[in-house]
Amino acid sequence: MTDDASAPRRDPACLFCRIVAGEIPSDRVAQDDTVLAIRDIAPRAPTHVLLMPKEHIASAADLTDADATLLGRIFATAADLARSEGIAEGGYRIVTNIGTWGGQTVDHLHFHLMGGRAFTWPPG
Ligand code: AMP
Ligand code: ZN
Repeated sequence: MTDDASAPRRDPACLFCRIVAGEIPSDRVAQDDTVLAIRDIAPRAPTHVLLMPKEHIASAADLTDADATLLGRIFATAADLARSEGIAEGGYRIVTNIGTWGGQTVDHLHFHLMGGRAFTWPPG
């Protein structure tokens, strides 16, 4: 049997799955058994970190009730990082893009943690 329903989902062609696996280098700022946080390669703010599940989930549109613990972990990690990056007091933004019109360019769920400057609303 090759399929194991309990094995973490992985897409060998996915950029972020390859980063999670260590096949592509990244600047890791936090990780645990289910979550990885890396610095964005093209930062749009003084602090720009990407938080992602280690398993492959294509976007927030694919989340279910079963991902509640994972999401709690991602947001708690983001809040911890915001404190350690020194952006918590001034305020910051957490964004996830979905699909073409949402501006998603990497089809592996990730949350942008951005801070260190003021942001406009609504985003462009
Ligand atoms: P999105 O456009 O919302 O899907 O976000 C994808 C993000 O991934 C962009 O902000 C990119 O700058 C970032 N990115 C692309 N390749 C890498 C990489 N190798 N390491 C870190 N960040 C990356
Ligand atoms: Zn992936």
